[in-house]
Amino acid sequence: MISPNFDERPAPPDMIVLHYTEIDEAASRSWLCNPASRVSCHYLLREDGGWEVLVPEDKRAWHAGVSGWEGVGQINSRSIGIEIVNAGHRPAPTPFPRVQIDSVIALVADIRSRWRIHRAQVVGHSDIAPGRKIDPGEAFPWDALAAAGEAIHVPPATTDAPFNEADFRDAARTAGYWTDPIDGKQPELSALIDATQRRHTPAQVGSAPTGALTETLKLFAHARAAALLEPL
Ligand SMILES: [Zn+2]
Repeated sequence: MISPNFDERPAPPDMIVLHYTEIDEAASRSWLCNPASRVSCHYLLREDGGWEVLVPEDKRAWHAGVSGWEGVGQINSRSIGIEIVNAGHRPAPTPFPRVQIDSVIALVADIRSRWRIHRAQVVGHSDIAPGRKIDPGEAFPWDALAAAGEAIHVPPATTDAPFNEADFRDAARTAGYWTDPIDGKQPELSALIDATQRRHTPAQVGSAPTGALTETLKLFAHARAAALLEPL
């Protein structure tokens, strides 16, 4: 099934955004292809690892919503969206079967090679929409994607340093996060903390931020900067 919910891209994609559906496969397909929903994605990736095209990659699918990364908004314009069938937070994050993650890795690798997208530009919906989205959630194995060379992941830093808001904001900005106003909007500090914890220190989600979160973001930023210099 092809979704009617797309329009033209202003430029080729240079990012990949990973989502979870939070609803089952049939309901996801139906919603993402319903003209009334005004949402879509390029790929729906099933629990058995199979995937299907809902919107061609050269068109702009409507999966990211209000979003920002590296100081730029409207991430739909520059990304390819993959919806991964997963029950989400019901109430705890739902594990992803290994066969499904192997397919995410294979699909991301294929897309990256064809569009020449850096692995540093493979992000989660929560990374680009802090305070609004929490998918693909704390159960998503970024370490497995990174081990396969398809994303960046750093182990959480260990330090007793206290949390400092200015340092945290600087580290988050350098790491790519949306920290400053875009079109008059910006995430709250609490949303930024939640989003960065969710991706980088998932065991800390809901806890008060620490200096270790900031240090982890600095390590992530460093790894991203190095990866962005890799030839494609
Ligand atoms: Zn999403």
